[in-house]
Amino acid sequence: METKSLCLNLTIDECSNKVLFAEADKDFVDVLLSFLTLPLGTLVRLSNKNSFLGLDNLYKSVEGLTDEFFPTGTCREMLLRPSHAAEIKCLDLLVNVEGNRALSYYICPKDCYYELLTSCANAQCDCGSKMSRKVEVARSSSRKENTEGVFLKRLTRFIITDNFMVIPSSTQTVMNLLGCARTSASIVVEKQVNVGLSEMISILHQSLISENALTNVFLIRENDNLPEKKNSTFSLIAGPKLSSGPLLDIVGIKLIVDKRKNKVVYAECNQDFIDILFSFLTYPSGFVINKLNGKSHIACLDNLFGSVVSKPMADCFKTLESKQHLVYPRIPLHYRISKFLIKSTEAKRMKYYMCRTPGCDCNEVSLDGNVLCKCKRITNKRLKVMDPRSSSYGFVSDATYIVTDDLVVTPLYISTLISMIAVEDLVEVPFNVSKIEVLALLEAALGSQAVLTDAFLTTEETTKNGISSIEDDCVLV
Ligand SMILES: [Zn+2]
Ligand SMILES: [Zn+2]
Repeated sequence: METKSLCLNLTIDECSNKVLFAEADKDFVDVLLSFLTLPLGTLVRLSNKNSFLGLDNLYKSVEGLTDEFFPTGTCREMLLRPSHAAEIKCLDLLVNVEGNRALSYYICPKDCYYELLTSCANAQCDCGSKMSRKVEVARSSSRKENTEGVFLKRLTRFIITDNFMVIPSSTQTVMNLLGCARTSASIVVEKQVNVGLSEMISILHQSLISENALTNVFLIRENDNLPEKKNSTFSLIAGPKLSSGPLLDIVGIKLIVDKRKNKVVYAECNQDFIDILFSFLTYPSGFVINKLNGKSHIACLDNLFGSVVSKPMADCFKTLESKQHLVYPRIPLHYRISKFLIKSTEAKRMKYYMCRTPGCDCNEVSLDGNVLCKCKRITNKRLKVMDPRSSSYGFVSDATYIVTDDLVVTPLYISTLISMIAVEDLVEVPFNVSKIEVLALLEAALGSQAVLTDAFLTTEETTKNGISSIEDDCVLV
């Protein structure tokens, strides 16, 4: 797939050196919208682990854990390069920040009975062999020039503000935006820029850390381009509103709290809590923003999400399904964990076909059955997509782990604890994590560097969990 470049018309205030707004067609906006389908782990990876979300440490922890802490070799890969439900659709974008990865699959090199397909190289086939034969998805119906977009209809052009509000173009919109932004000293000029893959990845990165994404990419020199520091005194103002039903699904952990500073030093937990944390990396950003009622604190993406559900954009989507990919992204198949405390829907099972010709070496799978293979036979072998985690229902192995306040995950080794518990006034507090706490954790992980403290010690829910009665119940470490 060759990546093209897209044209963006910037309206700039030269005096303040700021992009007032940009104008583009559906192809550019389609790419912006695709950011909502990307898993958080992908946002971290494409930002070179400088997303400034609290998830950077989590991502590095997955890289740092040794193989013995993953049930299969593919579990780590699923977290570092998570797939997502819209990735085949996103192959039609003119610029795809993820490249071609959704096209590559692996099958068993033996013509074996199981007929399995996996996205993870060298996963183990049920026959015992390593699935090492690479196949590519042949896409029969590639998008034709100038037809409808991936998410949007053909019709219109769009105005995009510096902080990612998207509005269909109209004279009134432009007048309003100019009216709001222009001061008496403004010198408004227009500038046309081409946006290729590297610019698009910069736009994605800036959209996570700044409310001036376009200005930072197109107007400010690289050296000036320091990320704006996030508010370090972040705390939950109002927790997500949820019905407080009976707490059936609970994961118990122990918080080691510095009583004097009212701060979590670390949490001691088993694999269930680590699975919950690591699964954050696999959540599409649109899913997260939806779960947090539109307020994820990911700088520009909340505005983008707000635009998708806004009235002016209502008629712009190709189909209801294309809008739902952005507003209610599904969790990819096989990415659920056994203690999945946040409600979600799994993506539909895609169908993949090959021909049955012995020795056919075309190395293509088709999304349609009964079409012609390159060897001129019919693709009538339906491949089963295997669960790359084999029999386990989590990402990590059974063990005791510790998680620091800024989400560094390590196995529990006494040596690592010595320095951490050298503080006086530490108490160990048993703590139950249910759906409410997972949402608080997710929200804090996106906006704080003291994630466990902000999620578990400052919300109202903590009183139910026993922190208020810290003097009575706690065990001194
Ligand atoms: Zn096999
Ligand atoms: Zn063939």
